[in-house]
Amino acid sequence: MTENTDRPLGLDGRDRSTHSRTPDAPTRSTLVITAHAGDFVWRAGGAIALAAARGEQVTIACLTFGERGESAKAWREGKKLDEIKAIRREEAEAAGGRLGAVVRFFDAGDYPLVATAEITDQLVALYRAAQPDAVLTHPVEDPYNGDHPAANRMALEARVLAQAIGYPGHGEIIGAPPVFYFEPHQPEMSGFKPEVLLDITEVWDTKRRAMECLAAQQHLWEYYTELAVRRGVQLKRNAGPNLGLAHKTMAEAYMRPYPQIAKELA
Ligand SMILES: [Zn+2]
Repeated sequence: MTENTDRPLGLDGRDRSTHSRTPDAPTRSTLVITAHAGDFVWRAGGAIALAAARGEQVTIACLTFGERGESAKAWREGKKLDEIKAIRREEAEAAGGRLGAVVRFFDAGDYPLVATAEITDQLVALYRAAQPDAVLTHPVEDPYNGDHPAANRMALEARVLAQAIGYPGHGEIIGAPPVFYFEPHQPEMSGFKPEVLLDITEVWDTKRRAMECLAAQQHLWEYYTELAVRRGVQLKRNAGPNLGLAHKTMAEAYMRPYPQIAKELA
């Protein structure tokens, strides 16, 4: 039986209300690992804004600026590589600020994004510093953009290494935070099937304003607005009749690569 409640729920559906935590309990933490500077906004902006609105710490790791592969407008305008990286950094910082998150740039170079031992070490250090309660990243497949699967592999590998006490580096080892794959641009072609539909209605305006920070990808603003409407319709179709959902519910879809932990089926 599903409990009808107004308490804030995390991505894993557990109670996130502050009264369930002691006053000196550490703040909950979400870690988002993405290939390019804009990815977190389109795909997980709602989840990030929700977590931040609950007072949680949200850290976004942008492995690259998307300077070569996702900045076509700037290239057409004749801008140079360093200029484009600076523009994308500024946009992502503005978008992250709107959402209430801190953005960390790795400048690992895109198209192609290649894993190195140095980046792995940096990601392990970030995991251990952030001690995430939830991890968001790209799904395994994306036949249109190899950087996204590369970021997925790097995110998952660093998560496992960060758990190992024998792996060198500063900070406490981490537990096994649940991982959520956010929706790729071509979901059907990327083997993406919604397993979690997250209601982002209350932070939709924040996500839209964050999207509008990404002038280099203005062509995506309406696309991702329409996607949120569609996922919202699907959310309502999968919800009980008395949950008091908004007439126009907005949502984001996620997959879960690891089993959900539960004490009851709900
Ligand atoms: Zn991307």
